[in-house]
Amino acid sequence: MIYDASVDELLQQVWDGRRISSAEALRLYHLPLEELGALADRRRQLIKAAAYEGRGNEIVTYIVDRNVNYTNVCNVYCKFCAFYRVEGDDDAYVITHEEMDRKIEETIALGGTQILMQGGHHPKLSLQWYLDLLSHIKGKFPQINIHGFSPSEFIHFREVFNLPLEEIIGQFVKAGLGSIPGGGGEILVDRVRKRISPLKAMSDDWLSVMDVAHRSGLASTATMMFGHVETVEDRIEHLERVRTQQDKTKGFTAFISWTFQAEHTKLKAPTVGAHEYLKTQALSRIYLDNVPNIQSSWVTQGQEIGQIALKYGANDLGSIMIEENVVSQAGTTFRMGVTDMQRLIRDLGYEPHQRDNWYQLLN
Ligand code: SF4
Repeated sequence: MIYDASVDELLQQVWDGRRISSAEALRLYHLPLEELGALADRRRQLIKAAAYEGRGNEIVTYIVDRNVNYTNVCNVYCKFCAFYRVEGDDDAYVITHEEMDRKIEETIALGGTQILMQGGHHPKLSLQWYLDLLSHIKGKFPQINIHGFSPSEFIHFREVFNLPLEEIIGQFVKAGLGSIPGGGGEILVDRVRKRISPLKAMSDDWLSVMDVAHRSGLASTATMMFGHVETVEDRIEHLERVRTQQDKTKGFTAFISWTFQAEHTKLKAPTVGAHEYLKTQALSRIYLDNVPNIQSSWVTQGQEIGQIALKYGANDLGSIMIEENVVSQAGTTFRMGVTDMQRLIRDLGYEPHQRDNWYQLLN
């Protein structure tokens, strides 16, 4: 039975760093934004206190990496996506090794340590094509972490290659894969997924990839795209699924949420703004007591809200974003360099530090 604490008791429970139930999360969501933010900031301080040699609460991190979308051909047709093309479209593409080399060289020149490589679900690329791409990158740029392929891509690979997930992930790791991004999480509630992306991996499948990845030693992130057809209860269910998985396998390094960007997409849904973004992010910091890092999404919210989000539970500003092709197709085109990112962090009184994928400080 869920203990329904009085509001004061519930606030104390959050303040003390104790786990909250989904029913309690729903009650917290209805607090005024500033109150919820203060609680999330407290949880951030508690969770980061021991990190980085006791300086965790003073440090805000960022990573220098580049999004590389190896193909825009996709047969999943998510209604919220303005990025995909079908084979034969004039602007459909599959990346070449030479194009990949150029992108990575530019990334390294800017101090980058990683590529975040995801693609459409191309119906015809073979297992060997992916293995060749991974080993080409790793052979030429051993210092670069390949943070690649979302769970829904792995579910697609399982169908196309007709191999178990363990086998595919094992072969990818051998060829150079270093970690897995949490893309395609959207909302881990099948009723919602069936409305916005009926051909994509459903919730159990998405989580099963993370389960296999974590058990094979690969770290990953978890994400949530919200502010479309879901309810607040659905968002909390999503958080519950992530927290339960993390209790089992402990492989999520960070949680990143962002709001649906509607332009040029087929999804007819009311979008949400900064107020709801900050509330949801704050709630995620409180609820996900076993996920060490929360990234703010300046890419969808803009620099100012991305910065303010650091007072609403986030301890990381994500990537400087040398290249971004997906939300920019949906009308959102914020950009930021290292100097701006460091300034945003310093202006709030924190120390900016570049990090790697595993949140180790690089400077
Ligand atoms: S979101 Fe990803 S899976 Fe869905 S249509 Fe776009 S590229 Fe394809």
